[in-house]
Amino acid sequence: MVDDAPGGDGTIVAVCDAAGGTPDVALVPGFIDVQVNGIDDVDVSRAAGDDWDRLAELLLDQGVTSWCPTVITAALDRYERPLARIAEAQRVGGSSIIGVHLEGPFLGGAPGAHPRDLLATIDLAWLSDLPPIVRLVTLAPELAHATEAIRALVARGIVVSLGHSTPSLDQVSAAVGAGATMATHLFNGMSGVHHREPGLAAAALADDCLFVGLIADLIHVHPLALELAFRIKPHDRTVLVTDSVAWRAGTAGAVGMQVRDGAPRLADGTLAGSALTMDAAIRNVVGHCGVSLDHAVRSASTNPASLMGCTDRGSIAVGQRADLVALDDGLRIAGVWLAGVRLR
Ligand code: ZN
Repeated sequence: MVDDAPGGDGTIVAVCDAAGGTPDVALVPGFIDVQVNGIDDVDVSRAAGDDWDRLAELLLDQGVTSWCPTVITAALDRYERPLARIAEAQRVGGSSIIGVHLEGPFLGGAPGAHPRDLLATIDLAWLSDLPPIVRLVTLAPELAHATEAIRALVARGIVVSLGHSTPSLDQVSAAVGAGATMATHLFNGMSGVHHREPGLAAAALADDCLFVGLIADLIHVHPLALELAFRIKPHDRTVLVTDSVAWRAGTAGAVGMQVRDGAPRLADGTLAGSALTMDAAIRNVVGHCGVSLDHAVRSASTNPASLMGCTDRGSIAVGQRADLVALDDGLRIAGVWLAGVRLR
């Protein structure tokens, strides 16, 4: 039951039994994607004006009701305008935009598709000047001044995630001690789980406190590795992300890519984001990785809300924003409500 009457605030006012409802439709919390570089033909770092409406529509199509526009590595003097455009889109479009995920430019030994010539050493003054629209920063803990940067960001309420990185285990521990709470797209862009040289992936799997982002397009990560991650991590620490890019436009910031073999790639074959949607990610982990629907949905809603400190959404409970998704028995989108208003 939702308070969507005129004057209502779009929150849930009562939760009733499903008895008498439609048995082949599951009503779940709206999805939250904390890593979206772009979708289809709209690149977040270039989006302006009507592009934001199109992004909102494309997100609703996949059941995403809250999200973090993600800006990748660029020259330090190239962030101001996209960050200002996103802040304006948030002001105009409402609270579906949680805030910006800044992925780079302070990355380390596994930059992936990020332009290597634009990677930077940590600039504490630059970080301290970031506008409040920034809510999540991915950085590499092996860089000089990483722990100072993490402490300063966390003190401002910014979530810090570790990624594109090949740190020592001590560097991971120092970063977690300084307040980092996530590993960005586990397994991708990081040292792995070698039994004599455990890298960031192994450290992130072993630390029950760390959230892990997972790109479940079945290309970035093998289904078996996804299954292991879902079995190892506590149920409240798995976060499905799409890491989607404007694959039809062929750009993510300064990076150009083309879809080949099922995913956007640089000319040399390096993966450059995904063409994944969140509803497909849920179908993939349920259908191919032995993950329960409840765990999959939680990883796309409750857990990212918890990661981002969003206490007003992410579950179906009285007082929560009525962001809801109906899934049919094939786990396809059958309905989407944003603050109690049905939009799909
Ligand atoms: Zn990345």
